[in-house]
Amino acid sequence: MLQWSDVDAPGGYKLEIYKESGTQVYSGTLENNYTPASEVLTASGTYYFTVYALDADGNELSYKTSDTFTYTHTHSLTYVEAKDATCTEDGNTEYWYCSGCGKYFSDSSAAAEISLSDTVVSSGHTYDTNGFCTVCGAYEPAELNADGVYEISSAGQLFWFAALVNGDTAQEGITAADTSAGAVLTANIDLGTTTTTHTNTEWIPIGTDSAPYTGTFDGGGYEISGLNIKTAADYAGLFGYVTGTVKDLTVSGDINVSGDTMCVGGIVGTVKNGTLSGLTSYVNVTGYDGTKGMFGGVAATAEGTNNTAGSTVERCAYYGTVEASGALTSVGGIVGYMSAATITDCVNYGTVDSTGATSAGDTNIYTGGIVSYCNNANAVVANCINVGTISGAGANTADPCYSGAIIGRIKNSVEKVSNCYYLTDADSTLDGIAANGSGETAYASGKTADEFASGEVVWLLQDANAEYVWGQELDADEYPVLITDGDSESGKKVVRVVFYKASDSTVLMKSYTNTGNTVADYPSGSEYTFYSDSDLTQEISDISTVTFSSDTDIYVETELQIITQPEDYTATAGSTAVFEVEATGSGLTYQWQYLNAGASTWRDSGMSGSDTAAISVPVTEARDGQQYRCVVTDGGGNTVTSEAATLTVTDDAGFSITLQPSDYTGLAGTTATFTVEADGTGLTYQWQYLTAGGTIWHDSGMDGADTAALSVAITAARDGQQYRCVITDEDGNMVVSDAVTLSVE
Ligand SMILES: [Zn+2]
Ligand SMILES: [Zn+2]
Repeated sequence: MLQWSDVDAPGGYKLEIYKESGTQVYSGTLENNYTPASEVLTASGTYYFTVYALDADGNELSYKTSDTFTYTHTHSLTYVEAKDATCTEDGNTEYWYCSGCGKYFSDSSAAAEISLSDTVVSSGHTYDTNGFCTVCGAYEPAELNADGVYEISSAGQLFWFAALVNGDTAQEGITAADTSAGAVLTANIDLGTTTTTHTNTEWIPIGTDSAPYTGTFDGGGYEISGLNIKTAADYAGLFGYVTGTVKDLTVSGDINVSGDTMCVGGIVGTVKNGTLSGLTSYVNVTGYDGTKGMFGGVAATAEGTNNTAGSTVERCAYYGTVEASGALTSVGGIVGYMSAATITDCVNYGTVDSTGATSAGDTNIYTGGIVSYCNNANAVVANCINVGTISGAGANTADPCYSGAIIGRIKNSVEKVSNCYYLTDADSTLDGIAANGSGETAYASGKTADEFASGEVVWLLQDANAEYVWGQELDADEYPVLITDGDSESGKKVVRVVFYKASDSTVLMKSYTNTGNTVADYPSGSEYTFYSDSDLTQEISDISTVTFSSDTDIYVETELQIITQPEDYTATAGSTAVFEVEATGSGLTYQWQYLNAGASTWRDSGMSGSDTAAISVPVTEARDGQQYRCVVTDGGGNTVTSEAATLTVTDDAGFSITLQPSDYTGLAGTTATFTVEADGTGLTYQWQYLTAGGTIWHDSGMDGADTAALSVAITAARDGQQYRCVITDEDGNMVVSDAVTLSVE
């Protein structure tokens, strides 16, 4: 279209082309028969150009020419069809491309120009609210927060975190294992959730024995449910092997141990030189019958390096069932096996069972509510309770199989066990620490359900802690409960009230109540006066209305008062009448008095027991109608006199002897037998003897002395000794048999 062959210039020619708007679109050497390329004339419209002639040095000469022309561009469009993106490859929307002007259009009429980047549909996974890709099932990466900690709010993100620690590079964003990654839960998570690409997928534990988890996993007080391990390998649990920290987390689910596997725990397989704090496990661990062992409701083993302080397991609770049978089995509610470790403030409410062991060859089976086997001098167990069910080694009860409510077997320092308690009842045969026997109650003691319910045990646990770790809402909680870190007292703190006897500071009673409440139990009766100080200056007018907010001592003064009066007594001559009085007060002394029938003056008695609370009076015919009373004096010199009781002597006891004993003659070295029979009901017997020439009958302690037949070893010294039997019926009536004589040949 533009031809410039008819003029000759020494340096050739330069061409400049401008769009109508003034924008230069071309500047360059003008060749003969030059036709502007489509890249230069990119749009239809009016253009103008200038041609410069150049001298030999390339400078513009004086002559040049200009002109205008009109250009019409026709797009040469190529259609590109839409393509879906995949999880890993980009796709695009449909578009049209002009090879002439290089432009992209979203429509076939080239009306709407776009850029190529507008057509790109990015690759990537499509995650649902559970954190699983709806296309391929990949796990959604957890989000790293400003503290460099991964925030986890879905099941998919928890699977992703496990993949990160374990180095599963097939998952998005994971290029290598990060065993020290920190994590915090921000929601409850159900691992059993079913989505289009995820059906109760089996869990792969976080951390292995060759690459343990070294970071800090903070459950934030949330729960992970639906933990599902169908065939546990060694070191299994939510976590497989931990040397870091796992804390403030509740986990529920099921782990099946079908192979010959070791170290399977509800939350952690093994913790070594690490920390487990504030963990609650509802995970059932069942199915094992092998030879390797070690299973725990919370952790299978808690270990250290040699005799270091080792691992810490604190404020953990177990509610599930951990059940295993076979040889070398250590099964514990909190921890199966421990070496150097410290277990404090833990409670088992669950079931610990190793009764499946039925082979006589299965030995070394240990079962414990808190820990089954402590195998290190640095194994510390303190402030723990067991109220769950412990079932021991089944057929194998012989050494070395041990089942204990707190610990099955402790091999070294039992002194490192302290302040531990377990639920016991009349049927229980479990010791607190089995292998060390029931004598070890200084370290682990049994408490009844009533003692647990009273608040006594939770008070003992609280008393051992500077922090508020244990609580119990009395009348609502049967047993102590762990208090979540940072909780307020929430009506569960328990205070103790001790009632001291003011006169000698002995403890009358200990009572427990929740903070701010009154006590239900206190010494009751009109004779008690309560004081808040030991000097007895601050009297409490009504103890039943006093509320307590901290441990408190109360001092109790007992007023001088007759509680039980002596009673009239009817007996046959020859028996002994006993009159008793019961009084309250401090520093009490007694003096019995008697009044003869028909007389008017009371006289002090000097008979046996006359200066005690019970006087014994030999019954004779002459004493019929005699009265007895007691003058009681307290340490302050105050006196009170009891009511009078009357002694009635009768010859009819209401029952009688039907067979009297007989005299007996025998050789020294043989045995004499005296027998008596009577027709009363509820009879008791007491044989007495009178030495030859003596005047006082003494109770016999020989064989049968409290039965109907007395056996006497015959010796020369007993020649001439007499015997008789005092028989008493259920109403206290007495008859005395004939006296008979022993003669030695
Ligand atoms: Zn075009
Ligand atoms: Zn995907």
